[in-house]
Amino acid sequence: MAQVAFIGLGTMGYPMAGHLARQFETLVWNRTASKAQAHAQQFGSRAVADLKETTQAEFIFTCLPTSVEVESVVEQVLPVLKPGTVWIDCTSGDPNHSRRIARRLQEAGCDFLDAPVSGGKAGAEAGTLTVMVGGNRDTFHRALPVIQAFAGKVFHVGDVGAGHAVKAVNNMLLAIALLSAAEGLVTLVKQGVDPAIALEVINVSSGRSFSTEVHFPERVLTREFPNTFSLALLAKDARIAVSMAREAYVPVPLMQIAAEMFEMAKQQIGGDVDHTAVVKLIEAWAGVEIAPKGG
Ligand code: NDP
Repeated sequence: MAQVAFIGLGTMGYPMAGHLARQFETLVWNRTASKAQAHAQQFGSRAVADLKETTQAEFIFTCLPTSVEVESVVEQVLPVLKPGTVWIDCTSGDPNHSRRIARRLQEAGCDFLDAPVSGGKAGAEAGTLTVMVGGNRDTFHRALPVIQAFAGKVFHVGDVGAGHAVKAVNNMLLAIALLSAAEGLVTLVKQGVDPAIALEVINVSSGRSFSTEVHFPERVLTREFPNTFSLALLAKDARIAVSMAREAYVPVPLMQIAAEMFEMAKQQIGGDVDHTAVVKLIEAWAGVEIAPKGG
């Protein structure tokens, strides 16, 4: 019996499943089947054409855009799922949706862990992702050896949904950091300051963030904006964070504005660009670009 199966070989899933295949017998399924075949060639995994074949595995991973696709996949395989299977969802999903999926799986005698990841494409390729896991503690310990195949650090953060909740808030902090750094830097450009020098200062000062340290030097100043994490996916995470706060009647004006700005950016510049391209919206409002002086 195969030990693991992986559903969703996108930017993140493809390398994550590659790390699994180095250690475990791994089945892979992808909506676009050619990617699963390429994966099998590259990593020695076994591509399956029928989604239901993934149920041969003891651990089934998903890494899909949203919980909607995860639920659809779960419902398709549910009739043939073996009791005792552990479903590990690495999607950045919605906590409420995950609780519903977990209940459906429980009816079939299966367990669910939400295990979203952080570290981007580079972390997935290096096998150093941070994984935040929600679910039953015993199930977590059972799944830990397989999760560790692509992880740097793995945390058990609470019951089902807690992993997705932490991930949504983490990404909301990223969204706010990106937007605030963009607003700050266009202001400095207007003041005649070279944004490259401004970033050097900020990155050894108290205003620094992952965005100022990595995103702006590597993606904005270079004007490359390489698409490794789509704007639509970060807009989705921001929406989830706001809906969690709303549900708890917590006022979150900053989160609200950030989520709205990502929705606006999605309409104006499209969702299929890198999330850092949101900076272009703020640049357009200011009428300047955050580019180094003289090139
Ligand atoms: P991608 O868009 O690169 O990949 C999405 C995957 O889902 C593809 O395998 C795609 O198949 C599959 N898929 C899409 N729709 C369906 C569907 N209806 N049914 C079945 N399969 C489907 O996304 P990422 O890998 O970037 O992101 C995946 C998840 O990980 C998201 O929740 C994202 O928020 C999260 N994440 C992303 C990070 C990043 O840096 N990219 C970092 C951390 C988390 P196909 O090949 O056929 O299109």
